[in-house]
Amino acid sequence: MSRTGGSSSLRRVFHLEVLKRTEYPEAIRDLITQLRQMPGVGPRSAERIALWMIQSRDDKPEQIATAISKTRVQIRPCKLCGFFATEELCEICRDDSRASDLLCVVEQPTDILPLEKTSAFRGQYHALGGRIAPLDHIGPEDLRIQELLDRIARENFSEIIFALAADVEGEATTNYLVESLKAKPIKLTRIARGLPAGGGLESADELTLYQALTGRTKL
Ligand code: ZN
Repeated sequence: MSRTGGSSSLRRVFHLEVLKRTEYPEAIRDLITQLRQMPGVGPRSAERIALWMIQSRDDKPEQIATAISKTRVQIRPCKLCGFFATEELCEICRDDSRASDLLCVVEQPTDILPLEKTSAFRGQYHALGGRIAPLDHIGPEDLRIQELLDRIARENFSEIIFALAADVEGEATTNYLVESLKAKPIKLTRIARGLPAGGGLESADELTLYQALTGRTKL
């Protein structure tokens, strides 16, 4: 056998091996790809979840699918505060027993529940949907700031508490809002410092949040 013939037969063997590599059927591969888009789900977990779904003997996977589509259809941001709601207004905004003159401004709707858990605050909330971040091209107009200003003009707040992260962007956002509101006869305060930068309120523990809320300082 010539050297050329040898290498071409080698190539054929190599090719064959590549072609023979067995994979999951397309539907499973697609499911794994979809699952991998979820936060915190890596390739191994995606594969494990997909196989669990396929091999499940009961209808748990269908229940999960139903729960996903139900949430997608039913949940929307509260028109007033931005928290998760099934109606126009969320449970917090519909609760008459809460103080109507206290407003707590947070970055994300997910910051609201950790604050609620402390039971240190029984007022209203407003989630901005982020913070001013010039480097990421996020300006005041990209956040729910106009909604906040409209709300303050419309309602009768005696105190507005800023509960934003204590990092540069959180500070810049608080300062921007304080500048826009300082002419109004409303007490402006911020929660005590010490909240982790970046992680925001979500990663702060309950006691830290309680102390931060009760020990707020005037701006
Ligand atoms: Zn609400």
